[in-house]
Amino acid sequence: MKRLASKLREVVGARGVIDDPTLLLPYESDGLAMMQVDAELVVLPRTTDEAARCFRILHADKVPIVARGAGTGLAGGATPVEGGVVVSTARMRDVLEVDFEDRFARVQAGVVNVDLSHACGQGGLMYAPDPSSQMACTIGGNVANNSGGPHCFKYGATTRHILGLVLVTHDGRVIDLSEPVVDPVGYDLVGLFVGSEGTFGLATEVTVRLVPTPPVVEVLLAIFPDLDGACDSVTDIIAARLEPSALEILDRLTIEAVEKSVFAAGYPREAEAVLLIEVEGVECEVASTTREIRAILEGHATLEIRTARDARERRQLWAGRKGAFGAMGRVAPDLYVADAVVPRTKLRELVRKTVEICAERDLLLANVFHAGDGNLHPNICYDRRDADEVKRVLEAGHLILETCVAAGGSLTGEHGVGLEKRAEMELLFTPSDLDTMCRVRDVWDPERRMNPDKLVPLHACGELRTMPPREDAR
Ligand SMILES: Cc1cc2nc3c(=O)[nH]c(=O)nc-3n(C[C@H](O)[C@H](O)[C@H](O)COP(=O)(O)OP(=O)(O)OC[C@H]3O[C@@H](n4cnc5c(N)ncnc54)[C@H](O)[C@@H]3O)c2cc1C
Repeated sequence: MKRLASKLREVVGARGVIDDPTLLLPYESDGLAMMQVDAELVVLPRTTDEAARCFRILHADKVPIVARGAGTGLAGGATPVEGGVVVSTARMRDVLEVDFEDRFARVQAGVVNVDLSHACGQGGLMYAPDPSSQMACTIGGNVANNSGGPHCFKYGATTRHILGLVLVTHDGRVIDLSEPVVDPVGYDLVGLFVGSEGTFGLATEVTVRLVPTPPVVEVLLAIFPDLDGACDSVTDIIAARLEPSALEILDRLTIEAVEKSVFAAGYPREAEAVLLIEVEGVECEVASTTREIRAILEGHATLEIRTARDARERRQLWAGRKGAFGAMGRVAPDLYVADAVVPRTKLRELVRKTVEICAERDLLLANVFHAGDGNLHPNICYDRRDADEVKRVLEAGHLILETCVAAGGSLTGEHGVGLEKRAEMELLFTPSDLDTMCRVRDVWDPERRMNPDKLVPLHACGELRTMPPREDAR
């Protein structure tokens, strides 16, 4: 690694390589802190050209590569692999172009999601996908995980907003797919790359679609005496073909944690659940949708329906939701954020099931989730120093996924598969499906050095044959 570090320094400068064990500590995992692998070397290119030159050096020595944005992923996607090098986009933070007339922006992959919104906001445009981690996560990470967010209920997940990419492949070739066209000519390689979790190459530049900022926005907070009423309201709003822009549920434990934290939003502590609803559009559309939603909420025994009076109150209500995962740090040292999708007609039944699964294992559960998308996030509060508790958390996580898939749902709504859910891929896909995925992966990276051991089960891709033996993540 020493020889490699000095070669890489020739490309990216002294500050572009980290090999001091103390400074490497923050790279040992992403947000899935129960799975850690020591990072040996981190390289931070500043441009596509620097990234390509680094990749050629790593290719010569056949070194595995793990791409990393901000490390906010929750499935172990950016966790290092033994004998590998982490390539971080933390120094690729430039917004290269904002075209207000043609409504697109071109950014380096390490641009933080919220910084892009700031860059286009004054021109009446916005980048719609808004993960709750948007203060930290990068556009490159969003692309790799096809990330969602509260407003993706209306606008769709990241893949709907990516017009072009510049990529560096495992062997240091640059592929320019950056033409900002809505209907790609030939194979949709951009569409294929989105959601590939760092296994196809490194995105260095991203061209994104921008949408107009809505003229009128209304935010409602519906307060419920039980979680069932909140779930049923969402089911009925969807069934009524109404189109709010966001539908988010928070349960009692989450409300308590938020209200004790710096994100306090004025959520009522006596509630068992709150449903945060945003409606946007032109004035008459917002008024009629809001009226119909209110009627549905009233039919589900809401304790109260509040309306934010101004932009400050709207921001405050959203700050509580977006800070909810962070606030859970008040409840326990660690948080395991499960991520599953369920049919929205079965929200109540499956949320209840997650509560039961955790209660049976004596685990503390908080629910906060993108209810409109049927995207559950059972958040299990635990302490990773307690081995038995970790075992129960993993067992509950597996059972929750199994239950959701059996009910017609899916393994991940937005966090990706990473290290965490490789085994569960077999719940959803046949050996033939997985084999097809492996073949696609081989086209991009025949040596399987990009984020090896992630996304597809090891045996399905035959990586055991090609990779040197290593212990699994601890
Ligand atoms: C508090 C909190 C709230 C969250 N809320 C949401 C939410 O609402 N919606 C949601 O979808 N997710 C959410 N997440 C998960 C996470 O923030 C997203 O998955 C995010 O997109 C990860 O971005 P990142 O820059 O941190 O990527 P990382 O965690 O660094 O990497 C994620 C994956 O992308 C790959 N990767 C990173 N950069 C590149 C690149 N340039 N080219 C190729 N591959 C790359 C990595 O190898 C890894 O597989 C949340 C996480 C936290 C901690």
